[in-house]
Amino acid sequence: MLGELQGHAGDDVLSVYLSHCRVPCTMPYDYNPARGFIPMDSVTAGSADRDRHDRQKRIDWVDMDGIMSSRVLVVGAGALGNEVVKDLVLSGFRDITVIDMDDVVLSNLSRCLFFRDSDVKNGMKSEIVAERASQLDPEVRITPIVGKVQDLRDWDFGIIIGCLDNILARMHLNASACGLGIPYVDGATDGMMGKLQVVLPGRPCLQCATNRSHAKALERRFTCTGNASMFVPHTASDITTTAVIAAMEVREAMKIASGRQDLCTDGVTYYDGTQGTMFTLELDADPECPNHPEEDR
Ligand SMILES: [Zn+2]
Repeated sequence: MLGELQGHAGDDVLSVYLSHCRVPCTMPYDYNPARGFIPMDSVTAGSADRDRHDRQKRIDWVDMDGIMSSRVLVVGAGALGNEVVKDLVLSGFRDITVIDMDDVVLSNLSRCLFFRDSDVKNGMKSEIVAERASQLDPEVRITPIVGKVQDLRDWDFGIIIGCLDNILARMHLNASACGLGIPYVDGATDGMMGKLQVVLPGRPCLQCATNRSHAKALERRFTCTGNASMFVPHTASDITTTAVIAAMEVREAMKIASGRQDLCTDGVTYYDGTQGTMFTLELDADPECPNHPEEDR
């Protein structure tokens, strides 16, 4: 056979090799979580490829009905917000609201796939993200809001995803989510470092984490842009760390929408992109934290 392979290239090599295989190279059954094992002779070639979410449905805990019917609020349409909205749409979320008060500046363009040079000083972040991300799936509805999350009045959402670089807005969002009992997924980045925390009803929140001595030093990295009235140097930021944290946020949202909160990350997860490592700090509810009812403390 080796002699036959010589002189062939690419697909030719593969076809010659397969012609010598004694074991059939195709499985007799295809597996689909919704339909179970399907005899291959009943599967029309390419039928799975006509379902936009076929590959995702093969993940056993994914509930596409839950994902498609969830109402998601994305707070922040900057670097994390761009990536999060992209991942949400591609994952099948169809009802997304994105809120941000800022317009586009040139330095956003290195980390925001939905922004273009022509948008600089010529468009609001939330509106541009909504328009461009909608092009990824005709079934998705993305509602942009230009404003501060502190001014938001309608909180009819099933999941909140935080994409903020501002501690005041982050703590407001955390308190609102806890008070309303809405699952809240918070992400933050600082250069090659990233952080993820899932706040579920009755579980420790962001404020519990900031009050814990073992987390204080790490939290400080992600809260240094807290006061908009002060001059604060911009933190380092790059798309690779942003993409990792955004993907982790959306994966947690998928679990929540699929009714699998039991799979959500516990505590606070830190990602170190320089070392390529990740670690999770356990977290208890702070008995002094005002975001939890007395009976939960
Ligand atoms: Zn708390």
